[in-house]
Amino acid sequence: MAGKFFFVDTTRCTACRGCQIACKQWNKLPAGKTMQYGSYQNPADLDGNTYRLVRFDEHPSKKNSMVWYFFTEACRHCLAPPCKKKADQVVKDAIIVNDFGAVLYTKDTKKLKKAAKAIKQACPWSIPNWSNKKKQIVKCHMCHERVAAGLKTACSKACPTGALNFGEEAEMKKLANERLAAAKKKFGKGEILDLEDVRVLYLVIDEQSKYRPVAL
Ligand code: SF4
Ligand code: SF4
Repeated sequence: MAGKFFFVDTTRCTACRGCQIACKQWNKLPAGKTMQYGSYQNPADLDGNTYRLVRFDEHPSKKNSMVWYFFTEACRHCLAPPCKKKADQVVKDAIIVNDFGAVLYTKDTKKLKKAAKAIKQACPWSIPNWSNKKKQIVKCHMCHERVAAGLKTACSKACPTGALNFGEEAEMKKLANERLAAAKKKFGKGEILDLEDVRVLYLVIDEQSKYRPVAL
């Protein structure tokens, strides 16, 4: 299955949050009130006004210091989306997969409302959220209108370090393999997560659990 893919090189992410802000700007999403709850991750989780979030976590290193783990997260546009499978059991076509692989919600809000609970519960990463403002479930839509017009997604365009990349499947997989080889050379380890299942490929150099703290 071809189509569009993201490639996230976590070794290049500096947590500038340019992708997070670009997403808000493109989607005209307001900032929310936040508080210091013991982490620089802000807000604490994805929400109805936040479709992309840079997760922060820190863990002790062998050198007796702390290491940051940054992880820009949004919908992974799964190749066989569990959310769509579950939603179809409630109401057909509440979720549509477009021609380049974006997992999208129907504009039929009545239909979508019926399936909202199933959609939220079925996502392995709990990505979709209810928007009080829009009165519907929301998440990353792969900037499908920009992509259909030949543009990159707003978030990947904003990334200044080459951490968040977007393009054709073959291009992203080639880049992922090159960066994986470079990471193994530099750090002695590395892997691409969920390679066969999703359209967002993550290169990590440590245990997956270290990159994705449970939100408070
Ligand atoms: S990441 Fe979650 S919301 Fe996105 S397509 Fe996969 S199951 Fe659906
Ligand atoms: S692809 Fe578009 S909607 Fe999705 S996280 Fe990036 S900017 Fe937001």
